[in-house]
Amino acid sequence: AIPLVVAVSTALSAKNGLLIRDRTAFEKARNLQAIIFDKTGTLTEGKFGVTNIVPLSEDFSKEDVLKYAAAIEMHSEHPIAKAIAAASKEHMKVEEFKAIPGKGAEGKIDGKHVMVVSPGFLRENGIKVNNEEVSRMLSEGKTVVYVLVEKEVKGAIGLADIIRSESKEAIAKLKEMGIKCMMLTGDNKQVAEWVSREVGLDEYFAEVLPHEKSQKVKEIQARGLAVAMVGDGVNDAPALVQADVGIAIGAGTDVAVESADIVLVRSDPRDVVAIIALAKATYKKMV
Ligand code: ADP
Ligand code: MG
Repeated sequence: AIPLVVAVSTALSAKNGLLIRDRTAFEKARNLQAIIFDKTGTLTEGKFGVTNIVPLSEDFSKEDVLKYAAAIEMHSEHPIAKAIAAASKEHMKVEEFKAIPGKGAEGKIDGKHVMVVSPGFLRENGIKVNNEEVSRMLSEGKTVVYVLVEKEVKGAIGLADIIRSESKEAIAKLKEMGIKCMMLTGDNKQVAEWVSREVGLDEYFAEVLPHEKSQKVKEIQARGLAVAMVGDGVNDAPALVQADVGIAIGAGTDVAVESADIVLVRSDPRDVVAIIALAKATYKKMV
């Protein structure tokens, strides 16, 4: 049988958009020592806008860079892809589209191999880019992707996301509760550094590939800490499962919701504070 206070708390919380799917995890939420947040869509709104287009080859104009990138990104659901696709009116035909998880996307245009990829992908392939505007974008904490045709860099696109206005307050409150606040992201180090500083995180991990996210959670648990993971994407599902408490935030994806112990219906990171406070109050009454 479910103790009455727990049943009441569960019902009350649902009214406020806090859905408890696993009661044992909810109980664990009162003793959390570390919380790992996903960046995009969790601490930030996950709605990118294109801010810069930089040609990096004589034969490519700004329009070309955007046109090729947009053609590929039309076929991807990634928040970066949506922004790039929306920025272009032209839609060239793409064949053999494929996502490269945590790194980008690729396809064929007019028989040529086209990729839109992360700085990490270039580094792994020993490709160096020396461009002032690109360096500046990175130092400003922008998300940068590169457009490659037949493995040759043709241009870069800079994008900016918006930090949720509630993130800073949520992190401050959690830190007051003595909880370490961290962030995981597949995005570049400078963006991670910038977001981390803006919201006051204790620690961050950048350029983490999708399959490495749950490993990172394990590493934090190995420090002897009870860990919650907060995320919204398909990528985050294994990390949500690995964490002591998995929290899906916002509309998210079905996969994230199904993998979570707790679902925060509103996209408000302060609801993480609310659920912990509720867990503490609920189980205190029972003792
Ligand atoms: P996160 O969930 O932390 O935002 P992802 O693992 O989804 O990170 O993506 C990590 C990085 O991979 C992005 O910052 C971007 O550089 C690159 N990337 C992933 N998908 C795409 C895509 N469709 N187009 C361009 N870049 C992408
Ligand atoms: Mg994400």
